Amino acid sequence: MTQTVGELNPPVRLMLTPGPSSIDPRVYRAMATPLVGHLDPWFKTCMDETQLLLRQVFQTENRLTMPLSASGSGGIEASVLNTLEEGDEGIVAVNGLFSDRMYEIAQRTSAKITKVEAPYGNTVDAEDVRRAGKGRKIKIIGLAQGETSSGVLTQLADFRKVADELGALLVVDTVASLAAVPLHVDNERVDICFSGTQKAISAPPGMSPITVSARGEEVLRTRKTKVQSWYFDLTTAMNYWGKDRLYHHTPPISLIYALREAMRIVMQEGLPVRWERHRTNQLALIAGLEAMGLELLVKNPAERLPTVTAVMIPKGIDDARVRNQLLDEFNIEIAGGLGPLKGKIWRVGLMGYCSQKNNVLLFLAALEKIMLELGLRVPEGAGVAAAIRNYTQVETASAASR
Ligand SMILES: *Cc1c(COP(=O)(O)O)cnc(C)c1O
Repeated sequence: MTQTVGELNPPVRLMLTPGPSSIDPRVYRAMATPLVGHLDPWFKTCMDETQLLLRQVFQTENRLTMPLSASGSGGIEASVLNTLEEGDEGIVAVNGLFSDRMYEIAQRTSAKITKVEAPYGNTVDAEDVRRAGKGRKIKIIGLAQGETSSGVLTQLADFRKVADELGALLVVDTVASLAAVPLHVDNERVDICFSGTQKAISAPPGMSPITVSARGEEVLRTRKTKVQSWYFDLTTAMNYWGKDRLYHHTPPISLIYALREAMRIVMQEGLPVRWERHRTNQLALIAGLEAMGLELLVKNPAERLPTVTAVMIPKGIDDARVRNQLLDEFNIEIAGGLGPLKGKIWRVGLMGYCSQKNNVLLFLAALEKIMLELGLRVPEGAGVAAAIRNYTQVETASAASR
């Protein structure tokens, strides 16, 4: 007998994870619009508009700005492979799994790479990077603005200063922070900046927006050897995304539609409003978690990444059991810890479309129910009440300032 497969019918989840995030219905509709060819004249206009929006979201005038046909990790791969050659040296600031991934990818090139580390939950000290690069010719300094594995936010200014002193390009992973955390690629002089579509932009996974400064382009143009990856060679990929629109590879057309619509939503809201929304919702979540007696991994409030909150799992509580119950009973997905933090933390994502008051209150209520059932003594209703107090304060303050 031939086995048959049923019609696709995925559950409707609330993805409070560090990506992918749930997406706006407008983005689903964009994906369901008719496919055209990648060289269709109409699609060329659609590409122009996508690049226009990307420049607005990155806050840059960079010519070389495009979405790579790859997930966020492809952005790391492209940044590193396009800049590093035999004989070059680079430094990667590592404070978690994703910045470590940049180190791992850089190490696979023939360049000499130095890792400057900080424990998970902390930021790397730019002073340590300065010391590591002293007296050496450094081609790139790489770091993650938002380190998703631990929920840590790094300020870029000190690293830019060190990169200037060492004559290095500053390469910044904004996969978990773009469109949620203040970032001005031009003002902050980030040379190569990349992101992912499935996090705070709230489009489906599968694309990695990237932008390269004029100085970065100069480095690409003056390479002595060809980029070892044909697919990720930014100079040839730009023949398609540049004015010539020459075939390079067939891009995921429907994902580009989705990205275009998701960025329209970002710009309609406005970046400063969006940044503030992410902050407000995280502060309410944190107030709720702390009122329930839970502790955070990142102790310094200024270093907490607004999109990902790392919560210490209370002693005696079964990590998987809580996450499974959230999923089965409430259709809410949160993430566990990675690497050395596995079993030690939960990571609650409030990214893009998911960063909403409704979601914060629902999550706190659901978590309380599960904790009580597991025998943890949480003060009844305290989480939701604390979050509501936070929201009321913010709303009163903003009404007073109007
Ligand atoms: C998610 C993430 C990545 C990897 O992105 P993929 O789309 O899973 O390849 C890289 N860096 C950071 C900071 C991330 O949060």
